[in-house]
Amino acid sequence: MSSSPRVVVLAGGVGGAKFTLGVRAALARRGAPEATVVVNTGDDLWLSGVRLQPDVDSIVYALAGQNDTQRGWGRAGDTERVNHELQAWGAGWPWFTLGDLDLGTHLARTGWLRDGLTPTQVIGRMSRRWPLGVHLLPMTDTEADTIVVLCDGRRMHFQEWWTRHRAALQPAAFENPGIGDAAPAPGVAEAIAGADVVLLGPSNPVVSLGPILAVPGMRAALASTSAPVVGVAPIIGGRVVRGMADVCLAAIGVETSASAVAAHYGARADGGLLDAWLLAEEDGALAPEVAGRGIRPIVTPLWMTDAAASADIVDAALDAVGV
Ligand code: GDP
Ligand code: CA
Repeated sequence: MSSSPRVVVLAGGVGGAKFTLGVRAALARRGAPEATVVVNTGDDLWLSGVRLQPDVDSIVYALAGQNDTQRGWGRAGDTERVNHELQAWGAGWPWFTLGDLDLGTHLARTGWLRDGLTPTQVIGRMSRRWPLGVHLLPMTDTEADTIVVLCDGRRMHFQEWWTRHRAALQPAAFENPGIGDAAPAPGVAEAIAGADVVLLGPSNPVVSLGPILAVPGMRAALASTSAPVVGVAPIIGGRVVRGMADVCLAAIGVETSASAVAAHYGARADGGLLDAWLLAEEDGALAPEVAGRGIRPIVTPLWMTDAAASADIVDAALDAVGV
């Protein structure tokens, strides 16, 4: 048992942020080094001339204590003056709010990207203003925004499907154009290779962890690391805790159950990703099924009600694999 494990986390936005708060707290308790958090950039988009990185910002704002906990997204105490002006011009998307403080982030990011910084370097700069207590990396420096292909053949950006249509239009597939030529961001493969444990956070398996795992080289890095790979179920009692991950899962033919999601990631021994899988107590009856798939089940409370509860989840994962 190592009291200073090197931890790598794969994460999406709001669920990923809640989990990452727990990772930071659990590692601080152990006096362990900062975790490396690899975040989904499939949600990213260009809007009104600025680059948005919703999942990056959800994690940055949460770790910096700047997030709006009431609303669940964006900056605490934000206003919408610029947004109203953009709408008056007919610019942007009328159904997509850009807060004033949030726009400050997007402008800073876009300026740095225009200056030639990579997304990795931009996140590095953001982490200088607000020490995050983790080493945050994008999954890739290449733009590969998620596109939803609808059953009627139409294609739209993930954010339009998710935010405007609330995932109500039947999806046939999720694609990340350009991802075939992408590579993991600098430091990602090295962190996975040097890790003592890799944690797949309870993020949306399809549109948050899906794009991360689709980056060429990512699965190979996970397959070849000597670190155990432990996943956390985003499903509790057969339901998604928040959001519309069930619609995404159905589109790729995966049932909304903690066991089916484990099977979707697959057992490492069978060429999949997982050594172990955290199941909620409500889903304890699924443990034998998960074990039968060659994945070690660990039954523990999975409600991320606050950072302490998330830290307990992380402790359960680390204890289970002896790091
Ligand atoms: P997004 O990018 O903002 O959609 O956030 P993520 O993809 O990182 O996380 C969304 C997922 O987190 C949803 O599918 C939820 O089921 C899951 N989730 C949210 N809260 C909890 C929780 O308290 N416990 C668990 N186990 N999963 C949660
Ligand atoms: Ca997201």
